[in-house]
Amino acid sequence: MLRYILIASIILSATSLTTQANNEETPERPSGINKAPLDSDGRFTNLGGTLEHGSLSVRVPFILRRFGTYFRSGEDAPSRIDNDGLLLRENTDLGMPTVTWIGHATVLVQMQGITFLTDPTWSNRPSPVPLIGPRRFVEPGLDFDDLPPIDFVVISHNHYDHLDLPTLKRLAKRQPETVFFVPLGNAALLQKNQISNVKALDWGERIRFKEVVIHCLPAQHWSKRSLADDRRTLWSSWAVTGADRRFYFAGDTGYFPEFKTIGDALGPFDLVAMPIGAYAPRAMMKQSHMNPEEAIQAALDLNAKQTLGIHFGTFDLSDEPLSEPPRRFKAAAKNNQLDLNQAWIFDIGETRGF
Ligand code: ZN
Ligand code: ZN
Repeated sequence: MLRYILIASIILSATSLTTQANNEETPERPSGINKAPLDSDGRFTNLGGTLEHGSLSVRVPFILRRFGTYFRSGEDAPSRIDNDGLLLRENTDLGMPTVTWIGHATVLVQMQGITFLTDPTWSNRPSPVPLIGPRRFVEPGLDFDDLPPIDFVVISHNHYDHLDLPTLKRLAKRQPETVFFVPLGNAALLQKNQISNVKALDWGERIRFKEVVIHCLPAQHWSKRSLADDRRTLWSSWAVTGADRRFYFAGDTGYFPEFKTIGDALGPFDLVAMPIGAYAPRAMMKQSHMNPEEAIQAALDLNAKQTLGIHFGTFDLSDEPLSEPPRRFKAAAKNNQLDLNQAWIFDIGETRGF
């Protein structure tokens, strides 16, 4: 079944093959994109200053509700396709552009003959305290052992649902030549965990990797992994650009004006993967997590041809019902005159050509 879906979508997308030239004349730092700012404490900060995470009267009840959802039903979580990875492994020789949603912010992309992962997370409860961490509602769409060879990994920030050390260690052990790209300040954590092939980049920096260029770009978010390390390491989004395909991964982010700057500097993008979940309660999340309507607006700002909604329905992280993000995402797309071929919601494990 999956084979037919993939082949059909590759045929469909072949009619819209982009002819974008490999824009290698772009300056070292894309126009308008500056280094990540630091605050007076020497901690990384956002372009709009410190984010609000809601008052205690919002945060305390939220945390209590999280404990209370231990038995939350996952019946409205996304469906899962059993992807055996065969096509993806075969495709490492064929070189067709594909995208697979493995769950949450984990996306496998093949383009320009290269295979990479965003924020790979196979853990069931990514958390410093796994016993009480957020529960996974849907198994990863691809078994770890079914992965094709991975050329590189991009990591957006150090929150546990994005920087999953057990998975990163497995990837590094499975294939020592896999390169791990992280925003500034995150390399030490990986290196302490026997992952040595790491490159740390600041916003606006880029690096050539075989047939693509990997760009570290801004996001409006924060970092924290232990009690007192708030914003000691950087967070980012990433673009991967090549002669035939241009891809953008937003990481975790609130809506901010830099989407337009990134779109102007590096767009149009053939595909953008945008977070559409973990937005409720708004008083707490608004500045650091987009809702589906903001994700669609951001995709328009980025000059995206196709948008894949991710970061929903996989872990129990926030108050909105599990089925609400895709419903609102599709409605927002329609309200902006986008059709279903421009605003994608996948089953977990689904692969399409792009
Ligand atoms: Zn985060
Ligand atoms: Zn997240």
